Amino acid sequence: MNIKIFIVAAMILISQSVFSASSRPHIVILATGGTIAGTAESNTQTTGYKSGAIGVQTLINAVTEINTIARIDGQQISNIGSENMTSDIILKLSQQVNALLASNDVDGVVITHGTDTLDETAYFLNLTVKSDKPVVFTAAMRPATAISADGPMNLLEAVTVAADPNAKGRGVMVVLNDRIGSARFITKTNSTTMDTFKAPEEGYLGIIVGGKPQFENRVEKTHTLRSVFDVRNLKKLPTVVIIYGYQDDPEYMFDAAISHHVDGIVYAGTGAGSVSVRSEAGIKKAEKAGIIVVRASRTGNGIVSSDKELPGLVSNSLNPAKARILLMTALSQNKKPVLIQNYFNTY
Ligand code: GLU
Repeated sequence: MNIKIFIVAAMILISQSVFSASSRPHIVILATGGTIAGTAESNTQTTGYKSGAIGVQTLINAVTEINTIARIDGQQISNIGSENMTSDIILKLSQQVNALLASNDVDGVVITHGTDTLDETAYFLNLTVKSDKPVVFTAAMRPATAISADGPMNLLEAVTVAADPNAKGRGVMVVLNDRIGSARFITKTNSTTMDTFKAPEEGYLGIIVGGKPQFENRVEKTHTLRSVFDVRNLKKLPTVVIIYGYQDDPEYMFDAAISHHVDGIVYAGTGAGSVSVRSEAGIKKAEKAGIIVVRASRTGNGIVSSDKELPGLVSNSLNPAKARILLMTALSQNKKPVLIQNYFNTY
């Protein structure tokens, strides 16, 4: 080949690869641990394994296909089972996501997380991310070492959603098992099966078919850019505990919460947030001590609405774990019961 033609051909190839690299969206993967980063001794082991064992770069290297969809960077936030997730870590995660999305160079974020408390972290980010760029959580039910591990495909699909222009402005999303859920509604519904993330009343935002996201719904509840909550400079979240309602539930659980100076209590009541006489006395005592109490439902679905006969604010359709997240976030901004009840009605 003539040397001039060779040089021109090489320049065209280089400029094409530079162009295609910069035209692909830039997605940052933040890894926090969980089964998606878990390893077991054998490839048939799907319980009793170690979660949070492998690092973010190993997760990325296992799915080279994501590089054809986006320019990928990875950061390790933590490497833990999500039963050990804390409000300090989710606050740091929210602040890091806000910092990344404020940059013109970042188009979206994918967060890998343990499935056990994924819905709590995802909902916290749904309340506190100040951007309409896509934020997508993903996870796995089978460790990375298992036959048919679900993590690699879930990661690929999460990156696909985060890189899709149609994913903008839909609030924080959860992608597993070919489905796109809203952080507001989705929750883990089964301890072991792959199709565990569901929103029985509200359904999914969309599906991923043939490697492409197909969106079907939008979320009406307030989230991300329209949310009033700003935790970007917050040092610590308030302390909120959950007290479970059941036959014989004792009043002393409230005494314990009061003596630990908690800022808020979520009561996971029976049915539509009904309260035993013992817990009713406990709630009244806590409110006298200046603690905000929110009644939710242990059923996991349906609405808890205000009842003049009963003390406490109400969670509307949030499950107790997500009601705790909203109460912590709300109390970090103000302590007025009327305003906080309004948040529960609209977020
Ligand atoms: N308990 C672990 C966690 O939540 C493993 C569960 C999972 O990731 O599926 O991180």
